[in-house]
Amino acid sequence: MKPIVIAKVTGYVSLLMLYTPVSMAMTDESTERLCFGMGFFLGSVITGLIFCYSNRHFHKKYQKMLLRVKLAKNNSKIADQAMQSLAQEQQDNQDLLEERVQERTLELNIALQELESANQELERKNVLDELTGLHNRRHYDQKILAEYRRSRRNLTPLSLVLIDIDHFKLVNDNYGHLAGDQCLIWLAKHIKQSLKRSADIAFRYGGEEFCLILPNTEVEGALLMAEQLRLLLNEQAFIFQEIEIPLTISCGTCTYQQEVDVGPEQIFSGADKALYQAKHNGRNQTQQYILTE
Ligand code: GH3
Ligand code: MG
Ligand code: MG
Repeated sequence: MKPIVIAKVTGYVSLLMLYTPVSMAMTDESTERLCFGMGFFLGSVITGLIFCYSNRHFHKKYQKMLLRVKLAKNNSKIADQAMQSLAQEQQDNQDLLEERVQERTLELNIALQELESANQELERKNVLDELTGLHNRRHYDQKILAEYRRSRRNLTPLSLVLIDIDHFKLVNDNYGHLAGDQCLIWLAKHIKQSLKRSADIAFRYGGEEFCLILPNTEVEGALLMAEQLRLLLNEQAFIFQEIEIPLTISCGTCTYQQEVDVGPEQIFSGADKALYQAKHNGRNQTQQYILTE
């Protein structure tokens, strides 16, 4: 409502209030003027008062609103800061997690490598003889079966050579067990060097007994291999702590040529019989066993 209207209204209200006592002593015109003046004055005062009051009221309201806005601004600033620190914390956590994952992956890879080399070592130990480094008896059993099957499939001959040191017990008795061990290592080295084809494999079958599997090798080939080795060892002595220890070997060979009813056991047994024959005939020689159907 406009202040002038308020003044008019309050003027007329004052006029009504003053009309009765004052109008009795005054003329109509002067009474109206006085009343109007007084009313206008009172109206102005009341309007001023209302204006002052409403001004103060609105000022207070405005101040309150300003305060709220300020508070809201502050809150949003705090919220922004909190969001930023939260995002930073999240990023830090992510970095830490990635770092840990990388560390763990590295550790896992190292563990896997260790496991793999342990497995390889285990596999190696499983097939190799500890003392001489040749293949062991366990591996012989698997290999002879595989080569026997291949021989049957391809219709190729398969030869076996058994090698036994002559009077090896004397080496142990005269020079000690260490000398005996060194002697076995020395012989194994020569056996390895005597292998000509990549398919030929040497085994330490037992204490001082060795064995060669010679795939795709005829009777003559097996005899030649055994004799070459025997003659080589016959010519050079084993030396232990600067002492020359002469050594000889006896060999027995057997060749499988698709004979009926002959398996890996019969081939081995044939070579063993030949070896026995070589020992029986005076040692330091090679004998062969001919398989019959
Ligand atoms: P033969 O000519 O009849 O073969 O006689 P030998 O003395 O060689 O045969 P024998 O079977 O009587 O003796 C084999 C010896 O080999 C007995 C054993 O002490 C020895 N021996 C077996 N394995 C090892 C080993 O790993 N190290 C050593 N030092 N000796 C071994
Ligand atoms: Mg023996
Ligand atoms: Mg012997």
